[in-house]
Amino acid sequence: MSAQNTGYRLNQVASDLHIDQFQREEFWPAAYIAGHARHNVSHYLAVSSPIDCVSHGHLGLACTVEVNAAVTAAHEAFLAWRTWPAPKRGLVIKAIAQQVAAQKHALARLIVLEAGKIETEACGEVQEWIDLCDFALGQSRQLHGLVIASERESHNLLEQWHPLGVVGVITAFNFPIAVWAWNAMLALICGNAVVWKPSEKTPLCALACVHLVSQVLQQHGAPVGLLSVVQGDATVGQALVQNPLVPLVSATGSTRMGQAIAPQVAARFGRSLLELGGNNALIVAPSADLSLALPAIVFSAVGTCGQRCTSLRRLIVHHSLIEQVCQQLCQIYSTLVIGDPRDAATLVGPLIDGIALQNMKNKIEEAILDGGVLLTGGQVRVGVPVGHYVQPAIIQMPRQTRVMMEETFAPLLFVLSYRTLDEAIALNNAVPQGLSSAIFTQDQREAAIFISALGSDCGLANVNVGTSGAEIGGAFGGEKATGGGRESGSDAWKNYMRRSTNTINYGAQLPLAQGVDFKIKTE
Ligand code: NAD
Repeated sequence: MSAQNTGYRLNQVASDLHIDQFQREEFWPAAYIAGHARHNVSHYLAVSSPIDCVSHGHLGLACTVEVNAAVTAAHEAFLAWRTWPAPKRGLVIKAIAQQVAAQKHALARLIVLEAGKIETEACGEVQEWIDLCDFALGQSRQLHGLVIASERESHNLLEQWHPLGVVGVITAFNFPIAVWAWNAMLALICGNAVVWKPSEKTPLCALACVHLVSQVLQQHGAPVGLLSVVQGDATVGQALVQNPLVPLVSATGSTRMGQAIAPQVAARFGRSLLELGGNNALIVAPSADLSLALPAIVFSAVGTCGQRCTSLRRLIVHHSLIEQVCQQLCQIYSTLVIGDPRDAATLVGPLIDGIALQNMKNKIEEAILDGGVLLTGGQVRVGVPVGHYVQPAIIQMPRQTRVMMEETFAPLLFVLSYRTLDEAIALNNAVPQGLSSAIFTQDQREAAIFISALGSDCGLANVNVGTSGAEIGGAFGGEKATGGGRESGSDAWKNYMRRSTNTINYGAQLPLAQGVDFKIKTE
């Protein structure tokens, strides 16, 4: 490890964030409801850092009672908040952005400690929150409907957008702040309240966020019940999913999780917004500029230790380049610095836990049984802190086999070769998931086909850009087993609102639509 490792720990970060609780408590609150912490010291979970498996303390777990209390408080807050003009709500979001910017570095370090990301990626994650605040602030003056030409004389036909109420947000460990922020900032600007069930693997980031936002809400006289956090595992998520006062559940995580909750929310006629697993591919065409493609492949495949929903899992290389690409990738992989993410030189931090590590090892064995050749990596790293560190792996496969149909949430890259663009696109599309995809080509025709209706079937289709690292301006999300949700930019705000269609008659007659003649006697 390099000498630049500052080795900061939780109490230092907590002091930077001015969160006394983090310094004092051994039991983190099970919930934070309307500005008040709720504890549970009889039902808890041990929380540790993936960096060195050192304990951060114990996390109290919320029960259905806390979830329901959070939802009730949120509903009450919503009733007041929806009367605030949206641009006035925007000023609160602007103040949140200022607070986040002031604490950006400390928040990023908390992400490093809890999720094991390297610091530059963690800073990027906090920046996404700030960017989303900017976006939401602008959106506060653009929550617009439509005026549509009416077929009836002296009539107006309108569409308006109204807030939904309480938005339940369930998030994954790998983006412990940004994914919640995408949802929460838009939900709030639209006039909703939010109850957040973060991942049980990254609860302290959630406590820091709710702490920061609650202070801003108080300073601006906004209802503090607008944001609550309930801590725990799937059981706590279930209580949120089943609460009829939650019209929208926005859930980010594995496809398995989405499969469990979508029918439950639908059964009570709620809405779900699903951001689930990906199985992303990148095509290297014969004309690809390898000086762009290779760094994009490496960042997409090993960034966040392969634990991004958009991480590159499948590399589809034209047969004329496959030897060269594999050889150059192996060479670059041999230079990757793997280790403590607090070290400025590190590019690949730890996996989140031992289950993730075991899963990667199993998938490598399965791929080899399918005829795959391990070109590099896959070894557990020694000489780094006691965490789950692994060398990113590349496996060349003879064909696309069953092991490649599932998402392996680790730095495991499968390589395939292709001969025609049709074949490459078919390989790209032949998996159940449909999140991110990319092609590296200098051939305009190939690029246009790839992003056309005949090309990639994914929610994200890039040209000469890797599969991971999306900007907030566009709508983010994927098709098929990725869940179909769209969050973040563009018109994703509409997911947090309900549409009201209004017909207004300003005339002296009562004409019916479609010319229906319904004569009744009024005298
Ligand atoms: P996970 O599915 O294990 O957990 C995600 C969240 O769902 C956690 O908060 C968990 O407690 C909760 N949960 C799990 N089962 C539940 C149930 N039955 N009812 C209610 N809540 C439940 O996922 P993870 O391991 O934390 O994260 C990795 C996964 O998330 C990967 O598949 C990754 O691709 C996906 N992900 C997707 C996106 C996206 O935008 N598409 C973004 C980040 C992560």
